[in-house]
Amino acid sequence: MVLAELGGRISRALQEMTNATVIDEKVLTACLNEISRALFQADVQLKMVQTMCTNIKKIVNLEDLAAGHNKRRIIQQAVFNELCSMLDPGKPSFSPQKGKPSVIMFVGLQGSGKTTTCTKYAYHYQKKGFKPALICADTFRAGAFDQLKQNATKANIPFYGSYTETDPVKIAQEGLETFRAEKCDLIIVDTSGRHKQEAALFEEMRQVAAATSPDLVIFVMDGSIGQAAFDQAQAFKQSASVGAVIITKMDGHAKGGGALSAVAATKSPVIFIGTGEHIDEFETFETKPFVSRLLG
Ligand code: GDP
Repeated sequence: MVLAELGGRISRALQEMTNATVIDEKVLTACLNEISRALFQADVQLKMVQTMCTNIKKIVNLEDLAAGHNKRRIIQQAVFNELCSMLDPGKPSFSPQKGKPSVIMFVGLQGSGKTTTCTKYAYHYQKKGFKPALICADTFRAGAFDQLKQNATKANIPFYGSYTETDPVKIAQEGLETFRAEKCDLIIVDTSGRHKQEAALFEEMRQVAAATSPDLVIFVMDGSIGQAAFDQAQAFKQSASVGAVIITKMDGHAKGGGALSAVAATKSPVIFIGTGEHIDEFETFETKPFVSRLLG
């Protein structure tokens, strides 16, 4: 993860402020400006960075800073708390219960890592004793069913799909019937993606959702898409009732800011992050350790 760079820059900004003989409004503003630049370059949306700085200025008391309290700690703690609260949408997402059948629908753009993540998610719960199953309702991408089949077979997870049926709604319904009859308690529906956010994709998502009534819609987002994260997440939220987010490719060039944007845009928590191509390169998302890593 390219998070350490950001931590380094924030540390330097705090150090410069600590070195100043008098801490006044000007010195604090300069320090926060430097922290803002670092966060923006780590892909945190500009508007969120600005809100954060306004909040920090309200919280941090200049008199405390001047009185020789640990200035670095006070500001670092304020930044930490602000980032944590930005990652907290205020309500937990739906959590599957063993033995109680639930349907989870995955949405996201093509290439975001959706199909890979479906299997990782299924595998994660299989290890906890669930009986998961995978449905490939992606009839748009050639090879999608083969990919899901291959992943599912490796993990010993039952799967459903078709090489000939072109209607994703029909596949999703048939898959659901099959796995409900088999008493699977976690039925995962992988849907089509497109290269960009387009009307046909969103219409298809709405139809599959209407046919499957998912307990949870998970939006899968590539963590390395930079400042595009907010708009992309918002577009999906507007078309599907997204209830949770998974950020993929956090092992690559992702800088972390995308996670904050996705939460803000979907008002839903990040629940897992993908940290590699392999099935178990998948971590439960925890806010505080993530922010600690972000700040170095
Ligand atoms: P889909 O089109 O959204 O279904 O995306 P895929 O699941 O086919 O993934 C696209 C590419 O991203 C594949 O080469 C995956 O192996 C890769 N990928 C998915 N998740 C991760 C991740 O967390 N880290 C890395 N490095 N690669 C990933």
